[in-house]
Amino acid sequence: MEYISTRNKSISVSSAYAISKGISSEGGLFVPNSFPKITNDELTELSLKDYEGRAKAIFAKFLTDFTNEELEKIISEAYGNNVFENNIPAPLVKLDEGKYILELWHGPTCAFKDMALQFLPKVLPLSVRKTGENKKTVILVATSGDTGKAALEGFSNVPDTEIIVFYPSDGVSPMQKLQMVTQTGENVKVYAVKGNFDDTQTAVKKVFTDSDIINTLSEKGKMFSSANSINIGRLLPQVVYYVSAYCSLIENTEIKIGDPVNVVVPTGNFGNILAAYYAKKMGVPFSKLICASNSNNVLTDFFNTGVYNKNREFYATCSPSMDILVSSNLERLLFEVFGRDDECVREKMHSLVNSGNYSLTKEQMSTINDSFFAGWCSDEDTAKTIKDIFDSYSYAIDTHTAVAMKVYKDYIEKEKDDTKTIVVSTASPYKFPKPILSALGENVPENEFVAINELSKVTKTAVPSQISSLEHKEERFNCVIAPKDIGDIVLKTL
Ligand SMILES: *Cc1c(COP(=O)(O)O)cnc(C)c1O
Repeated sequence: MEYISTRNKSISVSSAYAISKGISSEGGLFVPNSFPKITNDELTELSLKDYEGRAKAIFAKFLTDFTNEELEKIISEAYGNNVFENNIPAPLVKLDEGKYILELWHGPTCAFKDMALQFLPKVLPLSVRKTGENKKTVILVATSGDTGKAALEGFSNVPDTEIIVFYPSDGVSPMQKLQMVTQTGENVKVYAVKGNFDDTQTAVKKVFTDSDIINTLSEKGKMFSSANSINIGRLLPQVVYYVSAYCSLIENTEIKIGDPVNVVVPTGNFGNILAAYYAKKMGVPFSKLICASNSNNVLTDFFNTGVYNKNREFYATCSPSMDILVSSNLERLLFEVFGRDDECVREKMHSLVNSGNYSLTKEQMSTINDSFFAGWCSDEDTAKTIKDIFDSYSYAIDTHTAVAMKVYKDYIEKEKDDTKTIVVSTASPYKFPKPILSALGENVPENEFVAINELSKVTKTAVPSQISSLEHKEERFNCVIAPKDIGDIVLKTL
């Protein structure tokens, strides 16, 4: 299977090339040149297998330039070996009749980013070698929180790679910061950057394309690559857990093969929900894909009006991993909706850069609305939903998952649709103990670790050891730098 660029279909590359480059040279995103199909018989067969078995079948369809042995090794390193709690990377929990929660936070960093960032660091060095390149890979990450830690954990001590993470000094939660600055590994570096996330991201992007730095790096036998969510190597592992979730419903005899199922996804960069759409394209019987946003509701407006407009106020919400105004992966949906017309994608992306907006026709929107429903949820309703769900089911959810739950409730009220539904849960409540305690009407202690123990008592659940162990870990990184110094730091570090 080849991968083509959303902005120039005539660019066609292998999966190894697409993964090692991350983005196409003209700025387009790599997408599969056609969607491999999965039949009902295959889904039935996969429902008898464990997660690794399901992953093997799906990856084999997409990564055709890798051998079975290579895939098996990568998959067992990423999803076996107790990397995820009890070796069950994506458990499906039944909340109520016809309502299921897909818990994607049982990995090393307690957020769903682990699902992809355990896989990518294993497939990336091999992809680089397959393309005939023998340089070492240097990963630069600008993070607003969850991605940085998940990437550090994934790349830690992976041979032939180095990783440098930059986070805004005032822009991450105390727990997220602690997770990053205590990271172990010979090949990892972490820096705080003065300013907000935008300052950090802009400065890192500049380093990526700085030809002096690239040349110096090349002389040392190294090259840049990226672990951000536009890399197809991060998207495909997400397709796997959607197929797996449907298989789990069959396995648990909650549905018969072929029954329609809705999916609700708390959305920021549109990566996670796009993976659900890809699974649907493959033939998984998903019906509505419900896109849930927080107050940064640029996607809700887009789905409901056909106008994408990023010229609007930015809100720092209690679901920070969804505080995004440009959802990069939406480009891949547009490519499909436009009937794979690359010129049309180019035109819209051009308009987004130049005027901050673009619009679609009624016909294009009606194609989109066949598959999608969109809604949003305020911070106030997020807190209310956490309390409601806990009172009804004694089940604690984090702020991001609560956004999905609220939008799902609104969807049912509006559409009266009782199709069985999977709600995607993207982070452990222990990553955000204070807002959860506050939502539950409990006292909120000042100290994070006191808060965590309090949350454990209130919810009668165990604190994940990945979180509790942070309290006594050594802080390895305490450098705070200015955005303009990122280039020098990169050169010095390498
Ligand atoms: C990254 C993230 C999201 C948003 O996922 P996208 O793929 O960017 O839409 C939602 N919840 C949590 C906890 C996240 O870390």
